[in-house]
Amino acid sequence: MLVNLTDILTSEDKAEDLLIDYEPDTFTAGGRTFPIISKEPFQLVCRNTGKGKAMLTGSFSCELLMECDRCLKDVKVPFRLEPEENISIEEIEHPADADSLSFMEGYQLDTEKLLGNEILVNWPTKVLCRDDCKGICKLCGKDLNLGDCGCDTFIPDPRMAVINDIFNANKEV
Ligand SMILES: [Zn+2]
Ligand SMILES: [Zn+2]
Repeated sequence: MLVNLTDILTSEDKAEDLLIDYEPDTFTAGGRTFPIISKEPFQLVCRNTGKGKAMLTGSFSCELLMECDRCLKDVKVPFRLEPEENISIEEIEHPADADSLSFMEGYQLDTEKLLGNEILVNWPTKVLCRDDCKGICKLCGKDLNLGDCGCDTFIPDPRMAVINDIFNANKEV
């Protein structure tokens, strides 16, 4: 959703409290799409901080459904975001680089983009169903959190395997 900030930027001491719905039901990151299973409306406060300047603060929380990195079980990952951005007409007119104020479209704030950036900044480095998740067996695929599968995951020393082959070949003669 776009919020027009012209008034906030141009009227000194003006402030506005807004409650904005975050519309997307999925979030795409790194080529993968994650369902958004719960979300609160975005509480946004826009405040003029001087001639042609404004400060945006807010809070937003949502939960994304991801997969445990080890056992692939579904994991609800909560995000509690508190974006804080200073904007100015000066910077909108003359952006320092392509990334600066990327959430602004002219004098309009793109709330989806602002929150999307925040979600990415807060992206977890690791997603685990529990800290001590044991993962799944590489041989039979059993969830090792439910108990041992009994697979022989011992990998023999390749040098020993050669000796075994020679031994077995001799036996066949
Ligand atoms: Zn797990
Ligand atoms: Zn197994």
